[in-house]
Amino acid sequence: DEFTLHYQPVVDARSEEVVSFEALLRWNSADHGFVSPAKFVPLAEDTRLIVPIGTWVMERACHEAAKHWPEHIKVNVNVSPEQLLESDFVANLVRALSESGLDPKRLEIEVTESIFLRDASVAREALESCMALGCSVALDDFGTGYSSLGYLRKLKFSTIKVDRSFVQGAAQKSPESLAIIRAVVAMADSLGMTTTAEGVENAEEAALIQHLGCSKIQGYYFGRPMPAEDVHRLFDRQGGERLISA
Ligand code: C2E
Ligand code: CA
Ligand code: CA
Repeated sequence: DEFTLHYQPVVDARSEEVVSFEALLRWNSADHGFVSPAKFVPLAEDTRLIVPIGTWVMERACHEAAKHWPEHIKVNVNVSPEQLLESDFVANLVRALSESGLDPKRLEIEVTESIFLRDASVAREALESCMALGCSVALDDFGTGYSSLGYLRKLKFSTIKVDRSFVQGAAQKSPESLAIIRAVVAMADSLGMTTTAEGVENAEEAALIQHLGCSKIQGYYFGRPMPAEDVHRLFDRQGGERLISA
């Protein structure tokens, strides 16, 4: 029982209203104290422990959203390649949805392009099954890996998440980062996909990202990952419609 989930708001870039929360795994170990997911998730992937852990994350996140959040708020769940490629991934997903009662339309699965590096056709089939259920799929960390455009042709992602490094670059007026964000936004628009800018930390970055035309924003400026109870309180206090940034 050392794992918990924290939830980070994603806001609509124009209205700045919360549209979703991303579930992020936290491990407070009795032996090691707080361990960053950037450290233990890759280890869990290597040992394949990410499969049962990921199943737990999916169940928890669906339950939380279904039982405690307003119906128009979605939940984003990260899925590792090892987990997606398991033969019972879709069956587990169906169970998580039916046991929680979550409308599949409220679930967005986040994958990185690394899912295509091993068994691309199995990964694609699994994601197509998720979409057939009504879930949507986001392409996470876009721009950091191979960023092959072929992936965007193979699968109808609903969202492309622009990695934080480009947001930081753009904020420092890097012409390359600015050009890449503009290009990703234009490409997503014409493919009928939305864009989420990751890692927006202050008002200047938010204004820049809004100007560049990203559809959604996630980052410390609009809210840090927070325990489930804090999300409840947020909805109690202000209907959760709008987060006033700290
Ligand atoms: P990610 O999916 O790219 O998640 C976004 C990361 O950026 C999170 O780190 C979040 O706390 C951080 N972040 C958000 N806004 C800001 C910001 O404004 N500034 C900065 N500096 N950082 C920001 P976190 O929670 O440490 O997670 C790290 C990675 O661990 C995630 O990256 C994801 O790849 C993985 N991870 C976390 N939870 C899960 C999970 O349940 N399953 C799987 N498979 N992977 C997970
Ligand atoms: Ca993610
Ligand atoms: Ca990301």
